[in-house]
Amino acid sequence: AAASSGGLVAYADSGSDAAVEKPQLPQRKKVIVLGTGWGGTTFLRNLDTRLYDVQVISPRNYFAFTPLLPSVTSGTVEPRSIVEPIRRILEKKGGEIKFWEAECFKIDPQNKKIHCRSNLGTNLDGNGEFLVDYDYLVVAVGARTNTFNTPGVVENCHFLKEVEDAQKIRRSVMDCFERASLPFLDEEERKKNLHFVVVGGGPTGVEFAASLHDFVTEDLSKLYPSIQHLVKISLIEAADHILTMFDKRITNFAEDKFGRDGIDVKTGYKVVKVSKDAITMQNPATGDISVPYGMAVWSTGIGTRPFIVEFMKQIGQGNRRVLATDEWLRVRECDGVYAIGDCATINQRRVMEDISEIFRVADKDKSGTLTVKEIQDVLDDIYVRYPQVQLYLKSKQMNGVADLVRSAKGDAEKESVELNIEEFKKALSLVDSQVKFLPATAQVASQQGQYLARCFNKMKDAEEHPEGPIRIRGEGRHRFLPFRYRHLGQFAPLGGEQTAAQLPGDWISIGHSTQWLWYSVYATKQISWRTRMLVVSDWTRRFIFGRDSSC
Ligand code: FAD
Ligand code: MG
Ligand code: MG
Ligand code: MG
Ligand code: MG
Repeated sequence: AAASSGGLVAYADSGSDAAVEKPQLPQRKKVIVLGTGWGGTTFLRNLDTRLYDVQVISPRNYFAFTPLLPSVTSGTVEPRSIVEPIRRILEKKGGEIKFWEAECFKIDPQNKKIHCRSNLGTNLDGNGEFLVDYDYLVVAVGARTNTFNTPGVVENCHFLKEVEDAQKIRRSVMDCFERASLPFLDEEERKKNLHFVVVGGGPTGVEFAASLHDFVTEDLSKLYPSIQHLVKISLIEAADHILTMFDKRITNFAEDKFGRDGIDVKTGYKVVKVSKDAITMQNPATGDISVPYGMAVWSTGIGTRPFIVEFMKQIGQGNRRVLATDEWLRVRECDGVYAIGDCATINQRRVMEDISEIFRVADKDKSGTLTVKEIQDVLDDIYVRYPQVQLYLKSKQMNGVADLVRSAKGDAEKESVELNIEEFKKALSLVDSQVKFLPATAQVASQQGQYLARCFNKMKDAEEHPEGPIRIRGEGRHRFLPFRYRHLGQFAPLGGEQTAAQLPGDWISIGHSTQWLWYSVYATKQISWRTRMLVVSDWTRRFIFGRDSSC
C-alpha cells in the first residue's frame, strides 16, 4: 500500500498471483542505512532507491541540522526549525523505504546481519530486539562525546550534540538566572550560579560561548538588571590556543574579541574533575584549582561508539581508535560494509606501499627507468589515487615532475633525467608525511554520503570493473574514482554579529559582512524549504523582538 507513485509500483514486492505475468525483475539487493544524521541522510537523498531494497535504522526519526545547535541553546533558533522528520525525506523518495526507530547494537559481518533494539515496544521474547540482514550496510552512526574518562563529567556537565542537549542547556541557563535571583541567596551563591563554564576551545565550544555571551548581554541583562554584573563566562582549553584548527589570524582575533567581551579564556588548563559545585582544572604553573560554577558544557571532542569498538575488534581493527575504510569508503576485509562520517576515517593508501607497482605502470617502455615524460603521463592518476603527492609538491614549492626528478638526482647530475627504482623511491620517500585526516564535520559526512550514493547508483557497472591500486589511463571508464574531499571553507561565529571564515585557498575573512555570508550559507544549506522558512523567520524574529527567554 505504501508504494503508490507510478513507476515505483513495478518494483514493489509482487503479489503472488500476478507474479507470473510480470517481467522477471532481478531481486533487488538489500541496503541497510544506519543513522539519520548528515552522512546517512545525504546518502539516502542521493540514492536511486528504485535500484535497491532500502531500509533505514536510527534511534532518531529525524535529521538535525547540527551547525545551528548553538543557536538553539540561546533561543535564536527554535528546535523544530532545524529538524526534518526522516519519514518526510523518505516520502519524497517514493515512499517505499522502510524506517525503523531502533538502534543497532551489534554487527555480524560473517552472516551479514545486524542486531537491533527498539525501546518503543517488545517482541515475544519480551525485549525490543530484532535481526536484519543486508547485502550492503552503510554505517553512518556518527560519534559520541568524549569525556576522556574525566570523573564527574557525565553526571554534571551538559553536552551539545543532539537537539535535546541544546534544549536542556537553554533551560539550564534560565534556571541559573532564576536561581541567582532568589531572595535567600548571598552574593557568593549568586555569583556561583551565574558562572557558566565551557570546556573545550574547538569550534563548538567557542560558538556556544559566543552565543551565550550574546544572549546574556543582549537579552538577559535587561531582564535581570540587578544580577547581570555577576555573570561570568569561562572557556577552558587544554592547548595553548582556542580554535587551533583555524588560521592563526582567526585564533588571534577570537582570543582578542573574547578578551574584550569579558569572556575568561583559560588556555593551557586541563579539567581533571567535575563535582556538583566545582570544576577542578590543572595547569603546570598553578597546580590544581577549583572554581565554583552554575552550569558547565563539555565539548572537548568525539569518540567511537561502543558497538563500533566491538565491531572493530571482530574485524581485526581492535588496535585502532576509529573505524578505518579505504578511499572508496569500504570497511576493509568486510564484504558489503561501508562507513561514512564521524564514525569512520579514511585510511589513505601510502605511496611507499605501492611504489613498485606505480613504477611498473609508469615505465611504459619497460626500460627499468622512468623519464620525466613517463612520470608526467601517470601523474594525474597518481594525484587522484594519492592526493598526498600533490600536497607534497605544493609544500616543497616544486613545479611538477622535473623538480621532483632533480630533487632525487641531486644537482650534480642534472643532465641525467631518468630515475631507477631506488631514485624513484627516494624522490617520493617523504610524500606520505602529507597524508591528511579529514575533520569530523557535516561537510565531510555529507560529501561522503553523496559520493557513496553515486557509487551505489552505478554499482552494476562497477562490479564488472573492480579498481586497482592506481587508475590507469584509458582503462576502466566505469570505475569509480576514490572519494575526494572538497573543502568549501569553515565558519567560526564569534558573537556580536561577527563571524570568521576560512575559505579555500586560505582566504580569511572576519567581521560583520562574514556574518551575513554565514546567514546566507546556512539558509541555503537547509534540507527543505520548510526548515529554510522557519530558520529565516526565527532570525528575523530575533532581530525584531530579541531572543525568547521563557522556558
Ligand atoms: P551524525 O550526524 O551524528 O548522525 C549519526 C546518526 O546515527 C544519528 O541519526 C544517530 O541517531 C544515529 N545513531 C547513533 N547510534 C546509532 C545506532 N547504534 N544505530 C543506528 N543509528 C545510530 N560540522 C560542520 O561541517 N559545520 C558546522 O558548523 C558544524 N557545527 C556543529 C555544531 C555542533 C553543536 C555539533 C555537535 C556538530 C557540528 N558539526 C559541524 C559536526 C557535524 O554535525 C558532524 O560532523 C556530522 O553530524 C557527522 O555526521 P554523521 O552522519 O557522521 O553523524
Ligand atoms: Mg548519519
Ligand atoms: Mg546530524
Ligand atoms: Mg570521518
Ligand atoms: Mg622507462
